[in-house]
Amino acid sequence: MINALEALSRLQEGNKRFATGIRSLDTMLSQAHKPDLVAGQAPFAVILGCSDSRVPVEIVFDQGLGDLFVIRVAGNVVASSQIGSVEFAAESFGTRLVVVMGHSRCGAISATLDAIRNPECKNTRGLSSIVNRIRPAVEELIHEGEDEATLKHRAVRSNVRMAAQSLRSGSELLERLILNEGLLVVGAEYSLETGLVDFFDGVPAEMRTEK
Ligand SMILES: [Zn+2]
Repeated sequence: MINALEALSRLQEGNKRFATGIRSLDTMLSQAHKPDLVAGQAPFAVILGCSDSRVPVEIVFDQGLGDLFVIRVAGNVVASSQIGSVEFAAESFGTRLVVVMGHSRCGAISATLDAIRNPECKNTRGLSSIVNRIRPAVEELIHEGEDEATLKHRAVRSNVRMAAQSLRSGSELLERLILNEGLLVVGAEYSLETGLVDFFDGVPAEMRTEK
């Protein structure tokens, strides 16, 4: 298994290809390796992303079958089942990079802002369970008197940071892997506008991409 920084670099290169409209030959050819994947998988990264139809993870990173272990839930929130999924991949496959990826114009973030501003509007129990997980990340931003676009941008990032931190400290297994086995949990934001992913949280200095 490749280490976390090699995995991060592979994601950055794949996203660059996607954003510039190049589809990698390797990715297309990986369809031909389908029979190899029957025996098992060795995904090089775990991605916790949003369910938004505009952010299909394998496509925005230009990766193929068997490359990524993907968990998608509206608002890329971290509940027990998400922690369990990350634990499963890290323990079973030795995957050493975990990315929490939010995105611009996220509907779950907007729904949370709406719920905070209009407490009398009742969401369903299911939707509330998502909104209530995002709420602590955005609640304190709301009073800072910024314009709506800036507020949403900051809220997306704050929610990613909180989710990444929940993974780093929410499981004894993951804590041990971080401490002893080089597991890295980073936060990122996908831009619908540019197609680029900015890895902005928890990335070692030498790996930071220029904006
Ligand atoms: Zn979203």
